[in-house]
Amino acid sequence: MMAKHIHSDSVVQQLAHLVSRLYNKLLPVPCFLCGVETAGGPLCPDCMADLPEISHQCPLCAIPLQSDVICGDCLKKPPPQHRSISLFVYQDPIDRCISAFKYHQQLAFASMFADLLAEKVQHDHPFATLIPVPLHPAKIRSRGFNQSQELARRLSRHLSLPLNAHCLVRSRNTQAQSQLSAKARRHNIRNAFRCNGSPPDSVILIDDVLTSGCTVREAATTLKKAGTQHIEVWTVARAMSHY
Ligand SMILES: [Zn+2]
Ligand SMILES: [Zn+2]
Repeated sequence: MMAKHIHSDSVVQQLAHLVSRLYNKLLPVPCFLCGVETAGGPLCPDCMADLPEISHQCPLCAIPLQSDVICGDCLKKPPPQHRSISLFVYQDPIDRCISAFKYHQQLAFASMFADLLAEKVQHDHPFATLIPVPLHPAKIRSRGFNQSQELARRLSRHLSLPLNAHCLVRSRNTQAQSQLSAKARRHNIRNAFRCNGSPPDSVILIDDVLTSGCTVREAATTLKKAGTQHIEVWTVARAMSHY
């Protein structure tokens, strides 16, 4: 069942992926941020080096810290996930890169982010199933794709971990979290997910940004209630404020 999900890409999709990767590797394109011609990805080496990488973070919620210790908020109220990893602080210019990926389908960023995440966790990942944080079908129709699924698909290939994009579903189409206060976010996302059957024992939730943490908290809680024992959350970027 799991193996089927890994290989569920059609031959056409795999070919399209290969061609676009080759195209990106061989032909110089302007760097998304500075415009200098670059090959091998959407950003030039200088802009890559300037990205706000997180060197230390809370192991539970991934908030950037001076050292890798559990933050005060997680000590007071531990989140449902057992571990979180995030690559960058969610600030300029990473917010622009993520918007380009999410709203303008710049899929070269999906490959770049997945490469970097795979690198960060490669010696340290458990045997677990990757689950992208799902979008409501109405949102997928308007956006054209689920950015988390694009990341998860690439990570699944890199790390040879199974991907399951079907067991966690969005049962309600919620208002965008970014427009709401902290309290309204919790209310807005409540019961937004449900599980199809019993989920895997060990899960890695994949999302683009961890902002308030409400979405991930709700998704992780839904999985836990349905029987998942161990949950990790891997994201591209983490907002500085706690939820
Ligand atoms: Zn550049
Ligand atoms: Zn924390």
